[in-house]
Amino acid sequence: MNESSPRSFNGAKDILNQMYALPWINPAVWLAEIGQSVIGYPILAAGIGNGRRRVIFTAAHHGNEWLTGLVLLRFLRELAIRREWQYVLNSNTLIFVPLVNPDGVDIASGALARGYYYDRALAISRNYPAIPFPTGWKANINGVDLNLQYPARWEEAKELKYAAGFVSPAPRDFVGAYPLQAPEAAALAALTENLAPELIIALHSQGEVIYYMSNGYAPEGTFPLVQEMADASGYTLEATPSFSDNAGYKDWFISRFDRPGFTIEMGLGENPLPLSQLDSIYARVAPMLLLAANGK
Ligand SMILES: [Zn+2]
Repeated sequence: MNESSPRSFNGAKDILNQMYALPWINPAVWLAEIGQSVIGYPILAAGIGNGRRRVIFTAAHHGNEWLTGLVLLRFLRELAIRREWQYVLNSNTLIFVPLVNPDGVDIASGALARGYYYDRALAISRNYPAIPFPTGWKANINGVDLNLQYPARWEEAKELKYAAGFVSPAPRDFVGAYPLQAPEAAALAALTENLAPELIIALHSQGEVIYYMSNGYAPEGTFPLVQEMADASGYTLEATPSFSDNAGYKDWFISRFDRPGFTIEMGLGENPLPLSQLDSIYARVAPMLLLAANGK
């Protein structure tokens, strides 16, 4: 099956509209609103499958990594349609949160370019003039980096990021006032607590790298799966750089559940990666997402 590629990206509503269409493509797909963004977008989860093993797939924690959301959605749509993939759904329940940070995606993509929240983001960005606006925007609309919001060595993250100058709301790298302060991160953490999945996947960009450890530790079950994913994609396995080894979703999941969690840095280039890379990135990423979905 060949999916036709979108010609333009118009922000969070593009991804949400595709999600709302999923149950019409396959009634076995369920949707749940697990929370709301600061601006008021629903944080949507979609699920498919009937198996005991549970996997949560996430994308777009970071605003200017919105292409990750489109890659994950395409994978979910193929799962819902492709007959030859249905075997995966007998033994697995797969839960998708393709748009963790809708407000940040709207800022970084230019979909939100006027009004109260835009003006506030612009004011925040003026405190960090070295970061291009809006294309360098990763945070939620309050200037909190959602992948520095999880209660796993959050104080260490705060120390490192403060030392690097991120001491106030910023386009990226500001840890917030306390863990799970941002409603988007709190919603995903609550979903994860409720489902207690066997594995989580967090799609980011870019680098063609898979991070599979946290604080130098990889839980049982990481291998051989992550090696097979690397082989299937050609992506490299690496230890997380120490500057970003704290307070991320993967870090929290590994420390909270002692189960495997992988951050996949998809694609190469400068964020936001262009829509024209969607097909080529998807071709590399989909086989490894299928391996993660099936556990082997
Ligand atoms: Zn990221």
